Amino acid sequence: MKENEDKEAMIQALLPKTSGRKTEDDEFLSCSYKNLIFGTLLLLGGLLYLQVANTSSCQYTLSIVAPAYGYQSDTVPQIPAEPSWIKEETEETEEKICTPKDLVGALAINFDMSKVEERYKEMAVENQEYFENGEHLPKDCEVAPKKNIAIIIPFRDMTADLFRTKQFHYFLYYIVPILHRQNNHFAVYLVNQANDGSPFNRAKLLNIGFDVAKDDGFDCFFFHDVDLVPENDKNIYECLDTPRHYSGYIDKFNYKLPYNTIFGGITAFTAEAFEKINGYSNEYWGWGGEDDDLERRTIGGAKYKLVRPSPQITRYKMIKHDHETSNKPNPNRVKLLKAWNKHNQFDGLNSLNYELIERNNEVFYKNITVDLKYEERIPLQELLGNG
Ligand code: UDP
Ligand code: MN
Repeated sequence: MKENEDKEAMIQALLPKTSGRKTEDDEFLSCSYKNLIFGTLLLLGGLLYLQVANTSSCQYTLSIVAPAYGYQSDTVPQIPAEPSWIKEETEETEEKICTPKDLVGALAINFDMSKVEERYKEMAVENQEYFENGEHLPKDCEVAPKKNIAIIIPFRDMTADLFRTKQFHYFLYYIVPILHRQNNHFAVYLVNQANDGSPFNRAKLLNIGFDVAKDDGFDCFFFHDVDLVPENDKNIYECLDTPRHYSGYIDKFNYKLPYNTIFGGITAFTAEAFEKINGYSNEYWGWGGEDDDLERRTIGGAKYKLVRPSPQITRYKMIKHDHETSNKPNPNRVKLLKAWNKHNQFDGLNSLNYELIERNNEVFYKNITVDLKYEERIPLQELLGNG
């Protein structure tokens, strides 16, 4: 009896204060009692919903919402300050990208011709394991874009003592270990002009090297004389979007620029930049002018800035040589250069014609022999804008 009275009192206390007939009160009481049970069920249902949502894919929302309800079960995951997968991937990517290994800085370079073959053999024994199909490709890291480097060398040896060939061997003797330490993908393309009695054409050979190497998948192109050797392995061979002149500082010129716009010896271009300027002119036959024509196309035509890497680091030693009697100065070079913007639109990569006579992969380089089609050249008057 006492128990019933207590219960009644409790229920009464919960009820809104009303006046009215007993029957109504009785009815009201039973209704309120039902409402209370219904409300409790609703509340329990809500809690159950939260618990279920907590283990579903709504976790992220819940962990923000739940604390506002004072609800935080052990199963609510804590959101890490920084998603862990981003960190892991960054670390992994950094590890994978190739970076130079064991650079030594300044190098002692000397060209004792009596030692060239012996030195070359020594270098070959030590380095051949890093090469396949005439290419150097690091195995334990990923090569960054613009570091798949094709070094294109214009070449023809008409000397009795094979002096240019010896220069090439010295070039490889030094450049192979340097670029191996720089730890990127590279190949040297030796582009030989077939000995057909026509004048030497450095620029057209370089355009052909570009054409072949780009097809082979390279994305950075060094147009490189055979007789220049870097004096420091921190002189990194790589391309930027802006073309660069590498060989501004040569021992022969006391490491000073002979003139400000000099662009000969070695230049580095991405495919995009080289195509934008339509490459070299194909029509400089004989010595001189083609490098200045390239400067006009790059700086004057395409409005790139003239950029050179560090004068302290990017120094070169040149193998001393006389100019070949077979490579006489081009008598048209001054006229052609003055008219550079009369022919740059139709004389270059877009008019490149040649025949690939032979190509094969040596251990340290790719050997290509081409016919330059001297008889099919563009008439001089057309190149000068008088056509
Ligand atoms: N070259 C060559 N055979 C020649 C003339 C030139 O192989 O008969 C190549 C070689 O790569 C050389 C480049 O063309 O380094 C430029 O020629 P050279 O060295 O005569 O020019 P310079 O020293 O005046 O820049
Ligand atoms: Mn030279």
